[in-house]
Amino acid sequence: MAEKDQTHIVQREKEMPDQVGHDKGHPKHNYQVDLDRIIRRLERTGEVPTLLLHACCAPCSSYTIEYLSQYFKITLFYYNPNIAPAEEYQHRVNEIKRFVAEFKTKYPVTLVEGEYDPKKFYDVARGLEKEPEGGKRCRKCFELRLAESAKLAKELNCDYFTTTLTISPMKDAQVLNDVVQEQCDIYGIKRLPSDFKKKGGYKRSIQLSHEYNLYRQNFCGCVYSMREAEEREAKKERDI
Ligand code: SF4
Repeated sequence: MAEKDQTHIVQREKEMPDQVGHDKGHPKHNYQVDLDRIIRRLERTGEVPTLLLHACCAPCSSYTIEYLSQYFKITLFYYNPNIAPAEEYQHRVNEIKRFVAEFKTKYPVTLVEGEYDPKKFYDVARGLEKEPEGGKRCRKCFELRLAESAKLAKELNCDYFTTTLTISPMKDAQVLNDVVQEQCDIYGIKRLPSDFKKKGGYKRSIQLSHEYNLYRQNFCGCVYSMREAEEREAKKERDI
């Protein structure tokens, strides 16, 4: 992503305190504390569980892999039928393949690419096209991607399941952890609690993206988020 796009995200992070910290005076649950507890137990016992990690893109996966591959054997599942157009999808897949091939880890990371069938996304997004990023359409999008991921976690008999999506300051960790938990309940697997933006995770992902020269997109993924990003850019230009 170009430098100005990063500035834009950091700026929006400041504008959206609810998404990164507190909700109307009520502290949000700290999923990182839960994850720290699990990791301390693994360090104590020497156990190395298997983890199905749903991946949204290479930049978000970079820090998440660096962090979790010290404690888990990871199957990284790239399942994102929401991404448009097809060239953008392919570009993101190529980047994540390159990163996984180049990045050295303590325990193995195996990348699996899911099916790219955008119709599945348009089916769940129908009627929610005008929702802003972070609204009802996004929950449906998470459910679609995480349901397929949890199914694979069950097939592979993985010990834990989670998603890289919680690294984004634009995504609500509580909603994502809830959706992961719903799928874990359906498939009888364990949720790995996550809020990967904590502990400087988001900043580290930017550093790693620079180090590995990863493509950092300026929109979330779907055609609606692309339009939203274009409108923001146009507004910025007008305001100058
Ligand atoms: S904005 Fe992102 S999370 Fe929301 S529906 Fe579009 S691709 Fe999915």
